[in-house]
Amino acid sequence: MSFDVPFIRPVFPPAEVVAADVADIVESNWFTNFGPKERLFRQGLVDYLGSGTDVATFCNATLALVAALSVMLEGRPVGGFVIVPSFTFAAGPEAIRWVGREPLFIDIDEQSVQPSLPAARAALADHRGRVDAILFCNTFGIGAEEIGDWEALAAEEGIPLVVDSAAGFGSVYSDGSRVGTRGDCEVFSFHATKPFAIGEGGAVAARDARIAEACRSFSNFGFGSGGAIRAGLNGKLQEINAAIGIRQLAGFDADLVERRLVLERYRAAFEPTGLGRLVPHARLSSVCFASILVDDERRRDALLADYRAEGIEARVYYAPPVHLQPAFASAPRASSLRVTESVSARMLALPAFQGMAEDTFDTIARVAHDRLRRDLA
Ligand SMILES: *Cc1c(COP(=O)(O)O)cnc(C)c1O
Repeated sequence: MSFDVPFIRPVFPPAEVVAADVADIVESNWFTNFGPKERLFRQGLVDYLGSGTDVATFCNATLALVAALSVMLEGRPVGGFVIVPSFTFAAGPEAIRWVGREPLFIDIDEQSVQPSLPAARAALADHRGRVDAILFCNTFGIGAEEIGDWEALAAEEGIPLVVDSAAGFGSVYSDGSRVGTRGDCEVFSFHATKPFAIGEGGAVAARDARIAEACRSFSNFGFGSGGAIRAGLNGKLQEINAAIGIRQLAGFDADLVERRLVLERYRAAFEPTGLGRLVPHARLSSVCFASILVDDERRRDALLADYRAEGIEARVYYAPPVHLQPAFASAPRASSLRVTESVSARMLALPAFQGMAEDTFDTIARVAHDRLRRDLA
């Protein structure tokens, strides 16, 4: 089925600009392995994040997550748990397994839909000595308000805090710090479907330059002086994707302003109906889509069908949550995942990209009002 308004419409540099970059790359005869484009892109990311944050680039965020976890757990015995929410994308729990640990799923908070701090505390108390790390997830790329409390909890426990901020490049936390500058390190995805998109790509950002450097080494077969000095693989970013990244960085902040305005249009359409609410702090994020928590499951399903029938590609997120996916059915759950299951059944994701047509917003508001009227009838 094709939609008038697709869920995601990546904005890429014009074809002739990309062609010029390809010509440049061919001319330099340097296609990957930390070439001039990668170095310039990496510096651009460092400058964008500020606060002395260092960056290692990757060919995707999944390998960046594996690298971050592997580096943070270097030298520790395998076989323990890593706390992670189930309300996330499968790549995080999959990365945990690639570093020889098992995900220990925790619930989320109903209000913020971010990982629940009390659930993490309870999990740590119940599994004392067996939890090796926390893989925190900034849900939908929105910087969690409680990030400082999570940092304090990890420090208290003496375990690393890795943050999956895949969709969050460009987001800020509510205290004004940039997403990418917290925890032991944060991981970004630059996949074509994320707000900051280069095709396939990712990064680890860390305030401690040694962590970024170790991740870079991990992405390059674990090489150091004398050959492989740590676990590693090939996770390097290609020059062409780095070149696209350099172009994307130039216009990114202007795009963000527009995406955040789109979100305000959704707020205006939904809030008067009382059908649902936007997830908190979304306006401080880079806005991967408009996430609306509907008050009731049947209404969410009805709205999903209504929007799709109108040519607007609505989706559900994250559904099913990871603990209900077959590969993770046997993974331990720290507690009831009741809120996760309830939110997963009520979350409605609608497109939010720059350049959405004016009449799309009229349709969005009309569909919400029609649904309300039908439900009242
Ligand atoms: C997209 C995403 C990933 C994976 O990113 P890739 O670059 O596609 O590997 C991981 N975690 C979350 C939360 C994501 O949204």
